[in-house]
Amino acid sequence: MRKDNKEKILYYIFVNKKATRNELTKFLNISKMGVSKLVTNLIERKLIFEDEVVEKNSVGKKERYLKINREIIKNILTIYFGLDKVVLSLMDVDGNEKKGFNLLVEENISILKATKKIIRDILSENEVMLISIGMNGIVDSEKGIAKISTYYHWKNINLKEIFEEEFGISVFLENGVNMIAYSQIEEHQNESFAILNIENGVGSTIVRYDREKNQINLETKEIGHIPFDFSENSLICVCGNKGCVETIMANWRIEEKIKKNYGLDLTYEEILKKANKNEKMFRKEIMDMITPLSSLILWLDILGGVEKIIITGKITYLEDFFWKELRRVIKNNLLIKEKEIEIIKREYSENIILKGALRYGIDNFINSKYFKSIMKESEKVE
Ligand SMILES: [Zn+2]
Repeated sequence: MRKDNKEKILYYIFVNKKATRNELTKFLNISKMGVSKLVTNLIERKLIFEDEVVEKNSVGKKERYLKINREIIKNILTIYFGLDKVVLSLMDVDGNEKKGFNLLVEENISILKATKKIIRDILSENEVMLISIGMNGIVDSEKGIAKISTYYHWKNINLKEIFEEEFGISVFLENGVNMIAYSQIEEHQNESFAILNIENGVGSTIVRYDREKNQINLETKEIGHIPFDFSENSLICVCGNKGCVETIMANWRIEEKIKKNYGLDLTYEEILKKANKNEKMFRKEIMDMITPLSSLILWLDILGGVEKIIITGKITYLEDFFWKELRRVIKNNLLIKEKEIEIIKREYSENIILKGALRYGIDNFINSKYFKSIMKESEKVE
């Protein structure tokens, strides 16, 4: 979508919470005079205002930070379509929850219908500027389509269209791993990092920070489908190929392997617990993941050029024995020996996804119908 410069200024100030005219000049790559004119216009329209003085050593005209007029900012409704429940959280843009709802996924209810009812109730009592949704499975975020969601038996459901038609406000949709990436942006500001999520699939998102433009780019990689096991008895992957990394590392594959090798019906968590307690055969099976996992990380290093890998999923419940060995293998096999890859563990939880959904909503603020309406409204004042 093409944005005019006024919209870009509002975007920058809103996402960064405040900005100086100098930053805006760099961001837009236009003259100082040009920025000044646009800023004046936005101040007159009461969309932004000048707040505290910027601390500076040099003497000169005092500059003030520009901020968004909070009166034009409403709440964001974040939703996570998780595995066993749908979680809804109404938040202000600072991340304070105003209201929260859980909807358990049960066989006999229509998730879509039940979710709509909760949304309707929330909207009837609160001012919401947009809805931001995170979900598992394959998502077309541009069109807002849940392409495949095995848990809900959904195929090509256009959530964006359905909700926008029903509620008249803008809806944005992203997959869970990308939402985790969004949740980490503030903490790892100005850095490039990769999220590596290991659950019932293995997914990755590379987050790159563009210093010049002060912009964040996300690249989703189907890293779980890198061929790894070329042996004759390699397993068939959900993608149809044989021996993908996912066939060795996905949580349910570990459960399957324990069942096949030892006849034991254990959940992934139970297996991890036993490995943590140093029960020999479980530890051995878990340690078998070191090779595929370090391969993925080394691939991400060479092709992705990231300094940090954030690993998410239940695998993070594993204790130090696992991570020490992983770090050792990576260190020994890095192409550039002086380089260090930091490995960070994060839980794959609804809270972290909702936090990401909030940030995703903020990033999409200027693409919303709500934004267009306040722009139009303020033009009248002009
Ligand atoms: Zn595959």
